[in-house]
Amino acid sequence: MAEKIQMSTPLVEMDGDEMTRIIWAKIKEILILPYVDLKSEYYDLGLKEREATKDQITTDAADAIKKYGVGVKCATITPNAERVKEYDLTHMYKSPNGTIRASLDGTVFRAPILVEGITPFIPSWTKPITIARHAYGDIYRNVELDAPKGSKAELVLTEKDGTETRKTIHDFTNTAGIIQGVHNTDKSIESFARACMNYALDTAQDLWFSTKDTISKTYDRRFKDIFDMVYNDDYEKKFQALGIEYFYTLIDDAVARVIRSNGGYIWACKNYDGDVMSDMVATAYGSLAMMTSVLVSPEGYYEYEAAHGTVQRHYYKYLKGETTSTNSVATIFAWAGALKKRGELDGNSKLSRFGEKLELATVKTIEAGIMTGDLYLLSSNLNKKKVDTEVFLLEVGNVLSQII
Ligand code: NAP
Ligand code: MG
Repeated sequence: MAEKIQMSTPLVEMDGDEMTRIIWAKIKEILILPYVDLKSEYYDLGLKEREATKDQITTDAADAIKKYGVGVKCATITPNAERVKEYDLTHMYKSPNGTIRASLDGTVFRAPILVEGITPFIPSWTKPITIARHAYGDIYRNVELDAPKGSKAELVLTEKDGTETRKTIHDFTNTAGIIQGVHNTDKSIESFARACMNYALDTAQDLWFSTKDTISKTYDRRFKDIFDMVYNDDYEKKFQALGIEYFYTLIDDAVARVIRSNGGYIWACKNYDGDVMSDMVATAYGSLAMMTSVLVSPEGYYEYEAAHGTVQRHYYKYLKGETTSTNSVATIFAWAGALKKRGELDGNSKLSRFGEKLELATVKTIEAGIMTGDLYLLSSNLNKKKVDTEVFLLEVGNVLSQII
């Protein structure tokens, strides 16, 4: 066998929970370690270790991503009341993804993995649609009140020097109602714009952005203006040089265009639009297990992961010794994405090419008809065969060994 590929800088490796933790170790053993002399700084974000360190490990992992620039993360449990009992936790720890996102101030890009034989519900979507969701503010940081009949609601802004600006929201003279206050910040919107534009350059895809600025003439208008400013000041020339486009339109027009499109672009969405549209797009492409996710910070730090969770139901079957057929594709692509990016940043073309081949081997395996149960149900491949979790990885390993 040829010599293993060397790495000059470590990757931040974040292990996780349940079925995805099992898959994580197998991916390394079968698909990566035979070919790459893996240099990684390992952080165990499994729930046991989070409890043992009172979640310090998550903060340490986020700091390490800032240090090295690239991380790859396994799915992790976000504890709820049941998990607190199951794992005998002293705290209901926050979602590690939330902690890392807040620390890196990043934007999440989600893109489907397309394979022949699995047709999206919208058959004209022959290329991926990547959704970039702004992950700060709007209704996710809102304040709400009940407004009793007879009350009057006002918006009051108090400046540093005490100057007050007031606007009436509504007079609830004849009927009770509800009110809501939302905010965003120029800083967060600008970070979002930069992350989207960097990602567009990185992946050589057009960038679409949509809001409702015809109705929301101050709030949504600010989003549009900041995107325009960032684009004109820092990105226009780079986009032109690469032959890609920045395109702004109203959210309803964007929805209509997305449906009629062939895909192949990034759709930047405000927080709520991104929440709703990413589920719509993921479902239309077929499976959450075929969806990758990367967190990109405005400074250019990258964290790769699968979009799905820890697949708890399969894990309990696995623990009972039953056969599982869990799809590892999104986790393989997370590793491939991180290795490609590490290679790119370090000028290590062998490592980047390995990442590409790992993706190719995975797609080829499925297109040859070998797939896990979730895809078996969706695939129109006439030679399709359902295999278990480990056999799928071994088959990808076979294909990889032939193309390496
Ligand atoms: P999930 O792990 O995504 O799984 C939900 C269901 O989707 C599974 O039971 C399975 O359906 C199907 N599925 C998801 N991924 C699959 C895969 N790779 N292969 C085959 N089928 C797959 O969501 P969940 O069960 O709601 O959450 C479990 C845990 O994951 C929770 O503790 C949650 O906090 C955590 N979570 C973590 C992340 C993250 O770290 N990024 C994201 C979401 C959830 P069938 O059972 O019908 O086969
Ligand atoms: Mg959602």
